[in-house]
Amino acid sequence: MTEEVVSQFLSSRVRRVQESQTLQITARASKMKAEGKDIVSLSAGEPDFPTPDFACDAAIEAIRDGFTKYTSVVGIPELRKAISEKLKRDNALNFSPEEICVGVGGKQAIMNTILALVDSDDEVIIPAPYWVSFPEMVKIADGTPVIVPTTFEQNFKLTPEQLANALTPKTKMLILNSPSNPTGVMYSEAEIRALMRVIEHRDVFVISDEMYEQLTYGEVEHFSPARIETMKEKVIVSNALSKSHSMTGWRVGYVAAPKWIIDAVAKLQSQMSSHTSSISQKAAVAALLGEQTVVKTMREEFKKRRDFLYRELSSINGIRLNLPEGAFYLFPSVEGLLGKTFQGVTLNSSVDVAEYLLDKHWVATVPGDAFGAEGFLRLSYASSMAELEKAAARMKEAFRA
Ligand code: PLP
Repeated sequence: MTEEVVSQFLSSRVRRVQESQTLQITARASKMKAEGKDIVSLSAGEPDFPTPDFACDAAIEAIRDGFTKYTSVVGIPELRKAISEKLKRDNALNFSPEEICVGVGGKQAIMNTILALVDSDDEVIIPAPYWVSFPEMVKIADGTPVIVPTTFEQNFKLTPEQLANALTPKTKMLILNSPSNPTGVMYSEAEIRALMRVIEHRDVFVISDEMYEQLTYGEVEHFSPARIETMKEKVIVSNALSKSHSMTGWRVGYVAAPKWIIDAVAKLQSQMSSHTSSISQKAAVAALLGEQTVVKTMREEFKKRRDFLYRELSSINGIRLNLPEGAFYLFPSVEGLLGKTFQGVTLNSSVDVAEYLLDKHWVATVPGDAFGAEGFLRLSYASSMAELEKAAARMKEAFRA
């Protein structure tokens, strides 16, 4: 069937939504790799470390014990309890196990929360650069994403004035993500408090996506808006084991929120996915309750890589970047390269820069427009030091004057 015919049959919902561009570029880089090209991939959104042994052992034990049947929709009691304890231990947050719903990765937990709260015509404020899925999820829920651009100069952080200006009577929700994918930037406690003061007397909910909260490098302390007493009834914390415990494929994420929101999320989830794998849930309990030195080791290694790549990229003419305080991404401005020609290729956009790097120098990155920020590239340093050294050398070569 032609594309035109296909689109007649597809729902307007599907036609509204964009496919994930980060997955597209990663797929293209993988294809080139499969063709035998020595591609260095800085486009991945997952840690390159193995899942901790004790989590794998718990999963194997679960299979052997026959723990392979349906579980409760919201997650097994011991996992909800382990998450409740983790939130207290690591984030100073008080959520009872009943205020937690486990989902199929952080992605589904966030999607179900948006579906539970956002109606058609509701507006959801999303600061840009944003994680690629936020606006698309709001569109799936028939809501309207209200994108508020932030700049390099303001270190990509939404200001209270910007938030106040974006509010309308239709505003239902604000989505915050600190540390951020794609910028790695973190909001300080004072900054979070200032933002919350703008909305604390309104019926505006906040999804606080804290996916990278364990991957922070000491400059800024992670602070959740759910710690603010006046916001406790309106903040939904989302997190997962995907990045903190290198468990992307296991698909264990969760939201913590007031019970009435959790009940609504669970109601939707019961009709869609039911729950995440029983086996993954057992692995997640072991990962959360086990020795957390694996997380510390990963954090220390990421910090070394961040410092290395930051130093290397800072020395390239035409590239400007801030030092990100968390996650495993750098988000340099490549505006200084635009309009210039390298090896016969004129670069007019960040897509041109990413394509030039991939095609001519075999370095895979993601152009900033995927994250609502033209003129930037996202580089992931979730690759070995040897790969990062190779990438840095190739990028220096690529942009030699
Ligand atoms: N939120 C952010 C900011 C992310 O970067 C990601 C994954 O890249 C997710 C949520 C979803 O993670 P999961 O793999 O747990 O669904």
